[in-house]
Amino acid sequence: SQSKEKLGVALVGLGSYSTGRLAPGLQMTDHCELRGIVTGSPEKIPEWQEQYNIPDSNVYNYENMHEIANNDDIDIVYIVLPTGLHAKYSIIGAEAGKHVWCEKPMAMNVEECQNIIDAVNRNNVSLAIGYRLHHEPNTQQIMQFAREQTYGAVTEVRTAAGYDGYHEDGNWRKNAELGGGALYDMGVYPINAIRYATQMEPIAVNGRQSTVRKEVYPEVDEITDFQLEFSNGMVCTGETSFGKSMNYLNVNTDNGWYYLKPMSNYSGVQGMTSDGTALPADPGHQQARQMDGEALAIKEGRPPIVPGSQGLNDIRIVNAIMESSRNGRSRVV
Ligand code: NDP
Repeated sequence: SQSKEKLGVALVGLGSYSTGRLAPGLQMTDHCELRGIVTGSPEKIPEWQEQYNIPDSNVYNYENMHEIANNDDIDIVYIVLPTGLHAKYSIIGAEAGKHVWCEKPMAMNVEECQNIIDAVNRNNVSLAIGYRLHHEPNTQQIMQFAREQTYGAVTEVRTAAGYDGYHEDGNWRKNAELGGGALYDMGVYPINAIRYATQMEPIAVNGRQSTVRKEVYPEVDEITDFQLEFSNGMVCTGETSFGKSMNYLNVNTDNGWYYLKPMSNYSGVQGMTSDGTALPADPGHQQARQMDGEALAIKEGRPPIVPGSQGLNDIRIVNAIMESSRNGRSRVV
């Protein structure tokens, strides 16, 4: 079953995203397949081995993960851990000589992002960030509209991604050190969307972070909103929340407008343009498309579709929003 033509992927961290989306997605891919697991939970191992036909020799924990260096079955390690652990285990994967896929948000700060990029460069392996929307056809259309100015130059973007949620005690998404909070978890969607919808980088940032349910989120933001300012004077706004369901990308241009709503779901991303062109939902499996796209890029020796710079540039803005919120003034990026 382990075809030589497919690249072997090891999932690192068997939580809800690996279980619900990535492992099933890896059953639909043509250019890569699930061959290994890295987990700190021994009780998860038998089920995964049985369901996905994973041999004992391809099962690792966080202490012996570096030994993947000696395992030719594994070409790629996919880091699906809490955000605060992305840098440490991405670097272990790179040092083992494996290609690295790292989930969003890339890491806690620019220095950690740069350390990951340095490690993959040093070891001559590639790095892709798990921004699945870059592989989604309507999102790619929005990028193309910006590049080709199909509706004229972009003049304003308003975007939000949030859910009406509640995290139980012990969940890493309410832990500051592990990268919890709405901004890291969901805020990178509107940040990344403003960057791909404009194809520009902001020059200044304004941010406000707050928490309504202090008893639920004593140490991280529950709500963040921000403005990104561009060198041409354009101001784009973004919003994220753990307490409010929001999911849209609205773009105004010189000659019209277009939107995606929802803009960040696993399926059903769809929209409309001002001249009545529908952007209908794509029926495919987003994560399968993402992993196949990145695996094919590796096989063909091309650069990754979503390189580390995508993750780093977003984290630079995340950190600037945090600093602006603390200081109560605009922050140059
Ligand atoms: P979960 O909490 O469901 O799973 C995280 C897993 O990481 C755990 O099950 C555990 O796996 C492992 N882990 C290792 N150390 C710790 C620790 N100290 N605390 C908690 N877990 C630990 O998280 P998700 O699967 O939802 O998210 C994982 C990553 O994927 C995050 O970076 C998140 O942002 C990203 N993500 C991306 C999505 C996307 O659409 N691109 C969607 C959802 C998440 P084990 O028991 O095997 O060791």
